Amino acid sequence: MAQPKISVYRFMAAGCNGCDVQILECLVPRYKLADLGVGVVFTPEEANVLAVTGGVNIKTMEELKSIYEKLQPPKLVVAVGNCALTKEIFDKGYSMVGPPDKIIPVNFYISGCPPRPQAIVTSIAKALGAKLEEKEDYWATPEEYRGRHEFDSEKCIGCGACAQVCSSDAIELTENNGKRTVKVDYGHCSYCAFCQDECPEDAIKLTREYHLVFTDRKQASVTTDVDMQKCSSCGAYFMPQRQLKRALERTEEKVAEYKRYHDYLKETIGVCLSCRRKISNIKKAKQLLSRLSVTALQK
Ligand code: SF4
Ligand code: SF4
Repeated sequence: MAQPKISVYRFMAAGCNGCDVQILECLVPRYKLADLGVGVVFTPEEANVLAVTGGVNIKTMEELKSIYEKLQPPKLVVAVGNCALTKEIFDKGYSMVGPPDKIIPVNFYISGCPPRPQAIVTSIAKALGAKLEEKEDYWATPEEYRGRHEFDSEKCIGCGACAQVCSSDAIELTENNGKRTVKVDYGHCSYCAFCQDECPEDAIKLTREYHLVFTDRKQASVTTDVDMQKCSSCGAYFMPQRQLKRALERTEEKVAEYKRYHDYLKETIGVCLSCRRKISNIKKAKQLLSRLSVTALQK
């Protein structure tokens, strides 16, 4: 069956140029884009696909609109790389207007900083229904490759250590209806794997899966949920149940004698931070501390 003709025009709105280099990498013979009928053209009038990289600033906004107007049907737009999803590190720049989808319709979003050329090739081919040869080894990733995250929902305790070490602000913790949600946003992630290294429970892993292509910007994420604990004093949700359970387990692992006070400890950590400041709770906590000190001295 004849492959459709895909003519790609590249436009770098405002970024570091890394994704643009990856698009050029797609043109090397190993990807056989020419065999698929895919070629890069030098004017938007010749193109039916626009590959846009970077966020959009006040200088490039009008140019982007004008390029989009000149595209040929079906006028598909592929936003390549994280800056084209969220503006990323240029987010706070005074001249930034937004990611491309704030200015023109976008059909495909490819996450990465920068994305692998293979992800760009497959998404462009998918955009126009071209069939790719998948058997060749260039689709494989090296052992140490860092791609899509995988949460182990049985292990995650919702502690947020991953969010604290993420220098890209790609991990968000939200709370709703007694659940804490941990969400990795692929529009911001730089795949550094700090989150994986810091997770105390081995609950988050970066896999070798790189094909992070989305048709909806909101889908460019992965999440896991944990149940929250209600404060035994005021009834408000305040901390994940599993995090409290692990805290208790670790305390007792460190000082085995504390197991004698398991029920007291459990009761004390089941009180939220603001209720802990109530006089009656402070008194109870002091009593428990003095018991624990005596136990520690007896050791
Ligand atoms: S993935 Fe790990 S570090 Fe992140 S919230 Fe879950 S347990 Fe904590
Ligand atoms: S790999 Fe983890 S720590 Fe690194 S940017 Fe992505 S979410 Fe943040």
